[in-house]
Amino acid sequence: MTWSPTLFTGKRFAVVGLGRNGLPAARTLVQMGAQVSVWDDNEPARAAATGLDVREPDLAAIDALILSPGIPHRLPTPHPIATAAIAAGVPIWSDAELLFQAVRASGSTARFAGITGTNGKSTTTALLAHILEVAGIPAAAGGNLGTTSLALPPLPGNGVYVLEMSSYMLERLATLRFNAAVMLNLSPDHLDRHGDMAGYAAAKRHVFDRQQHGDLAVIGIDDADSRAMAETLRAAPARLVTISEAGAADVAPRGTHLMLGTEAIADLATARALPGAHNAQNAAAAAAMALHLGASREAIAEGIRTYPGLPHRQELVAQKAGVRFVNDSKATNADSTARALVCYPSILWIAGGMAKEGGIEPLAQYFPRIAEALLIGRDAPILAATLAAHGVPHRILHTLEAATTEAWRRARATSGEITILLSPACASWDQFTGFDQRGDRFRTLAQACINEVSPGDGAGNESP
Ligand code: ADP
Repeated sequence: MTWSPTLFTGKRFAVVGLGRNGLPAARTLVQMGAQVSVWDDNEPARAAATGLDVREPDLAAIDALILSPGIPHRLPTPHPIATAAIAAGVPIWSDAELLFQAVRASGSTARFAGITGTNGKSTTTALLAHILEVAGIPAAAGGNLGTTSLALPPLPGNGVYVLEMSSYMLERLATLRFNAAVMLNLSPDHLDRHGDMAGYAAAKRHVFDRQQHGDLAVIGIDDADSRAMAETLRAAPARLVTISEAGAADVAPRGTHLMLGTEAIADLATARALPGAHNAQNAAAAAAMALHLGASREAIAEGIRTYPGLPHRQELVAQKAGVRFVNDSKATNADSTARALVCYPSILWIAGGMAKEGGIEPLAQYFPRIAEALLIGRDAPILAATLAAHGVPHRILHTLEAATTEAWRRARATSGEITILLSPACASWDQFTGFDQRGDRFRTLAQACINEVSPGDGAGNESP
């Protein structure tokens, strides 16, 4: 199926920010018959917009501004084009809003599932899409994960769009209504963009906006801010389902079983790509939503069991002779890294980059698991100071290359099982184009380590 080339005839949009979201979104809008101008402050990005009408937006001549999620319209400093659009009364939308408008304009009744929260969005999005596929329900997953919303294909009326929604995207919706929505958890993140925790929570809460009777609102109740949000949802028309990774909730694990009320619907112990309690929360969310969207209990159990996992989330990228290399590059804050540290008893920990507020102090309870920390990136000295205060062995090695090679050397000199874990608890922008480039690099380095053949030792390198 393709979109009708006259679907958006007569509509006028400006797309600003021509990255992963903006460029494909602009091309789809053109295919739908809209009049589209595109702009990016960077010349190379403009040069990539071949065949498009590249110019600064004429705010008097557009119906809406599609602003890349990475470009602020409020905090910390609004982009001048956003400021001008607000002053001119031009709405600022994310491309997810336009996908919804396109689906409805095409007459499709396809439903929308929206997934947000500080951590676990991508996993829950991919898992829900996988369960729906197992259930034979047509699904397309994207948004903040993978394919941007507007580049997703048209779906038939029984299809489901599964959209990962960042707080930035949620602030830029006008009519999109999620038939099933989840807010997984809240911990401090992106506060520069939202001002404070209240602003951040308010942005996340937009995932439930416009929900009606018959829709489903799922919310994690494992942290105080999410619990407070759950209370505000009790009066809303959508059916409220609470989830937890360990405690009492409508959908939560008991032992290894994921319980729906009193019924065990899946054995999490059989789900190889969903380790740790945090993934029980993700599985609970996906299961509750899948059930609402028409998947059978059997399909949910099968989908959880066969979920293949995503790269960069505790991804086992190499192993040899008791040494495992685990790529958890996606863990860009302490909260995420805690989820990985808890899974392994003996760790050579590669961490660092651009530190987040609060640093790694919240990880102190896991420090006894760390044989040594090998630090990289701009804020290695900040991490080193925390580790020194707790007496954790550590060295600053600056680069991922040096840290991985050194970790492998140490691991081979260690008897017993050990995990070389890249879980940086930091953003990657100081040394990489993103967490994915950092994780890809680690995967390559790890595989090179285990494949190296030292002279006189054809089978490998058990001796240092
Ligand atoms: P997001 O898309 O929200 O960043 P991901 O599914 O990509 O989330 O997971 C990123 C990291 O966050 C994982 O590697 C893990 O360390 C952590 N994480 C995943 N799910 C949860 C959860 N439900 N609660 C807390 N941390 C989580």
